Amino acid sequence: MVYLKTEDEIELMRAANRLVAETLAEVARAIRPGVSTAQLDRLAETFIRDHGAEPTFKGFPNPYGGPFPGSICTSVNEVVVHGVPSEDVILKDGDIISVDCGTLLNGYNGDSCYTFQVGEVKPEVKQLLATTKESLYKGIEAAIAGRRIGDISHAVQSHCQAQGYGVVREFVGHGIGKEMHEDPQVPNYGRRGSGMVIRNGLCIAIEPMITMGGYKVYMMPDKWTIKTRDGKPAAHFEHTIAIHHGKADILSSFEDIERIEASRY
Ligand code: MG
Ligand code: MG
Repeated sequence: MVYLKTEDEIELMRAANRLVAETLAEVARAIRPGVSTAQLDRLAETFIRDHGAEPTFKGFPNPYGGPFPGSICTSVNEVVVHGVPSEDVILKDGDIISVDCGTLLNGYNGDSCYTFQVGEVKPEVKQLLATTKESLYKGIEAAIAGRRIGDISHAVQSHCQAQGYGVVREFVGHGIGKEMHEDPQVPNYGRRGSGMVIRNGLCIAIEPMITMGGYKVYMMPDKWTIKTRDGKPAAHFEHTIAIHHGKADILSSFEDIERIEASRY
């Protein structure tokens, strides 16, 4: 069931997503070699709760095992998604880390993810990050009322595959609103002109998960952490958008993060 949002609901979602953006910026300021992913998690949880919201991911149910223990997903290098924050995972120079964050504020969800570099990363890894982020915006540009979900999928997939990257199949973008995951699914692969028609009021998270090698992934025994099968790095960028006046209105934001990154690198 797809729930189209009213103007008021879109504004509530904008507030939840603004808090996600601010949380990711707080995390961005703390990312450096020597920091554990558990430290980043504590910082994010405190920030979210201090702003009157809930970290949606904390306690998120898992069909295969126990609930998610963290408030953010921290996925380092070959971890594609759902990395569990840990005192034992210490960031090193040259790593990349995807930080996925969700907040529930006034009954509505925000969801966004950014892949950060830690210190100086290899040029080929920088290229993976750049291409994955570009593909997110290609997907967003294709999100126009009257077109179809498959147009978004095709835009993401064709941009990444043209660079020789793998497009993860097992995990997809999604509708979002009162629930973190609503219909429809928004795959990062697919045919133009396929899938549901995009309409005003549709709120979706678009989230390319792109690998430097093959697209195959596997689940670790913790039943959360998803890694690339070939051990090559993966990137993940996500925005929540609303279709508003016929086109995509990006509710989350990378502006603060990019300002912080620009001052560092
Ligand atoms: Mg997310
Ligand atoms: Mg999502």
